[in-house]
Amino acid sequence: MSQTQTPDAIPLYVKAPKIYPRETSGRFSRLRVIAAWVLLGLYYVLPWINVGGQQIVLFDLVNRQFHFFGLTLWPQDLFILSLLLAMAALSLFFFTALAGRLWCGYACPQTVWTEVFLWMERVTEGSRNKRMKLDKSPWNRDKIARKSAKQFLWITFALWTGFTFVGFFVPIRDLAVRVPGFELGGWETFWLFFYAFATYGNAGYLREQVCKYMCPYARFQSAMFDDNSLVISYDVARGEPRGSRRRDADYKDMGLGDCIDCMACVHVCPTGIDIRDGLQIECIACASCIDVCDEVMDKMGYPRGLVRYTTENALNNKPTRIIRPRLFIYLAALLLLATVIGVILTGRDPLIADVLRDRTALYRLADTELENSYSLKLTNRSNEVMSITIDGDGLPGIRVVEPRRALDVQPGDTLEVPLTVALPLNAADPGMLPMTITATDEASGRVQVVETRFYVPRNP
Ligand code: SF4
Ligand code: SF4
Repeated sequence: MSQTQTPDAIPLYVKAPKIYPRETSGRFSRLRVIAAWVLLGLYYVLPWINVGGQQIVLFDLVNRQFHFFGLTLWPQDLFILSLLLAMAALSLFFFTALAGRLWCGYACPQTVWTEVFLWMERVTEGSRNKRMKLDKSPWNRDKIARKSAKQFLWITFALWTGFTFVGFFVPIRDLAVRVPGFELGGWETFWLFFYAFATYGNAGYLREQVCKYMCPYARFQSAMFDDNSLVISYDVARGEPRGSRRRDADYKDMGLGDCIDCMACVHVCPTGIDIRDGLQIECIACASCIDVCDEVMDKMGYPRGLVRYTTENALNNKPTRIIRPRLFIYLAALLLLATVIGVILTGRDPLIADVLRDRTALYRLADTELENSYSLKLTNRSNEVMSITIDGDGLPGIRVVEPRRALDVQPGDTLEVPLTVALPLNAADPGMLPMTITATDEASGRVQVVETRFYVPRNP
């Protein structure tokens, strides 16, 4: 190539061809449908369930409380939240090491919502062949009606999804009352439409592109695989050489393997790949190719399992050990984390008391007593009202002047009140003297003891 010649321009963006996955039926398709029903049911129904007047799952950011199946977590409990996240990550490692991308195929929101959007597409536009034909046909009344019906279903479902998403952060029943009158706040409106738009775009149009180009999990999953991990594979030794044949043909005599090259496994693949090309990063392990190939094998009278869950070792005729040490390590770590969370939760005190010295005045003289002022903060992390009495201790004759009566703290509330403590003159030597404030819940007898200091001046 001379100095003046330039290589052919390489396009930086190649438009992805639209994929029209064919519908499947079979064991794994049924499993996927069950998983979708359970997960979508949890997502759309959970925020509507109230127990004792409290939404059972509510991430109440305004009041800084996370309500989770009767458990109320506070900012002080972020540690528990991080342990829960660590458990979720470890579970992902465990299941990936055991059976590959189970999460992607059955539980990932992208997969589940894409399934729903695809179902709406089938309802309005028909089977794979009809959809392909419709897209190629000129715009006419039928095409406009079908496409409009699809868009109507997609947009309604996406808006409902966005509304439900906000309902995990703002009480959903209150939200539902405000929606018809357009009385939502700015952030509520933003997140409702943002989440609806993301669902519509990701599940309606981007689909497999999200898995291929945006999802980080596909990139690092290979680090969790080994030759004993269950993955969906095509049995090359059994299937090749592939080729079409009549059902009653003696294909062994023809020198053919079990694959009849019908392309059904490619037509059902939501990411448009050919499983016969080996394990690929685009494969989301949905198992549609297993179901459809089993159907083909049944029709041909061949044994099932030309495409199946298997391991690299099994395919290479090496011994397979699905149950292996790394699984036990993940399980042990999961068990340990669950135990730690259990211990923290059972030992967690629902009453938190905090005492801060008033920095504006060190002390005050009141007749025959010295007074020190504080700010008292009481947090009720239980689901019942607490009636709390405050006492002082640790110095001779010390008493609480304010608050005089028991303080009622509502469930999930924090109460902040002034606290005044008095000590008889000449009852103690001068200095910053250690003392304790005791908060007692009258009903349960729970006690919180807070250490603080009482200031006695040299010459009051
Ligand atoms: S579905 Fe089975 S038989 Fe048909 S092309 Fe795929 S692997 Fe071969
Ligand atoms: S190759 Fe098979 S398992 Fe992988 S995404 Fe395609 S259909 Fe699903």
